[in-house]
Amino acid sequence: MRFDSKLPDVGTTIFSVMSRRALEEGALNIGQGFPDYPVDPRLSQALIDAVAEGHNQYAPMEGVVELREQIARKLHGSYARDFDPQTEITVTCGATEALYDSIQAVVHAGDEAIIFDPAYDVYEPAIRLAGGRCVRIPLTPPAFRFDWDRVRAALTDRTRLIVINSPQNPSCTVAEAGDLDALAAAIRDRPISVLADEVYEHVLFDGRRHASVLAHAELRERSFAVFSFGKTLHATGWRVGYCVAPASMTRELRKIHQFNTFSIAAPLQHAIARYLARCPDAWSGLSAFFQAKRDLLANRLRGSGLEPVPAAGTYFQLVDYGALSAALDVDFADRLIRQAKVATIPLSPFYAAPPPMTLLRLCIAKRDETLESAADRLCRFAAGA
Ligand code: PMP
Ligand code: GLN
Repeated sequence: MRFDSKLPDVGTTIFSVMSRRALEEGALNIGQGFPDYPVDPRLSQALIDAVAEGHNQYAPMEGVVELREQIARKLHGSYARDFDPQTEITVTCGATEALYDSIQAVVHAGDEAIIFDPAYDVYEPAIRLAGGRCVRIPLTPPAFRFDWDRVRAALTDRTRLIVINSPQNPSCTVAEAGDLDALAAAIRDRPISVLADEVYEHVLFDGRRHASVLAHAELRERSFAVFSFGKTLHATGWRVGYCVAPASMTRELRKIHQFNTFSIAAPLQHAIARYLARCPDAWSGLSAFFQAKRDLLANRLRGSGLEPVPAAGTYFQLVDYGALSAALDVDFADRLIRQAKVATIPLSPFYAAPPPMTLLRLCIAKRDETLESAADRLCRFAAGA
């Protein structure tokens, strides 16, 4: 039978590929972004309790109300603004589902959506499946700053969506308040929505503060803001995220969500709701926690030939291997898995047309011992390279 692929050029994501290669090669995996340390025991206990108490049937489509109320409280604490749990907050299967649903809700066949390269991998396939076309605007290394002139020049009558990710995976840069002002000004008189991927909202370094679209008076009126308890509670496997958007946009998002995942695992939602009630600022130490890990890894690698690039936020640290090799990043990363026994993530798969660069992404959400062993292996490799 002839089968026409809807995504003929798409393979398995670089994260899954590198995690599989790490297993095959017995390598330390500091590629895919997930912690290798346990969640807070109070969170595990809350899940055991939720199951034992019988929260084992379908949760409401929009999310367990206690959890949406906790999210509203959390948002108020972070962004000094009230969001209505009934009409503006939806619990989703990780941030991934929220991103997909938002894109399906906005993008019609023939529409254009702007994303910034290097771009997290979910956006483009979802835009294409909606019948849209991605317009990719580069953030150029080494600084990876936004070029708002270029954004303005790329806007057309068909532009329907701009996807902004801050703190940004994989560049580890953050948008500043001025970037959000520039974005708001660029789309002010146009029918363009914003999809703000803010999963790393609590992981900013060196005293930086997160500029959320939810704290921006103009942008929050036209934005889907997407968050992940996977990142905030060190539980990526729980697959619980949420989307915050004005009621009219949330209505459209829920039309997709109800036929996509319908509702999210009930015991997990109850567990998170209870945990947040008990630990109302569970995320307050995240920046310091990850900054110490960034510093540990970066300090060990500095001078090795795998040079740390300044990182302003996220779970990640970029390194530049240009002093050691001019090989393509995908090939160099494969060499590291085989020879150094360390799995990393090359940057070129995040681009449509990668510029010449020699960057790898390392995940810092790991035990200190894991980071130390990985750094030792990388330094030994670099010394022999
Ligand atoms: N957006 C970005 C920028 C990410 O890095 C990730 C994964 N870490 C996601 C979205 C997906 O989050 P989740 O695991 O909650 O689906
Ligand atoms: N967000 C994770 C990362 O950037 C990957 C999640 C996934 O594998 N889909 O590493």
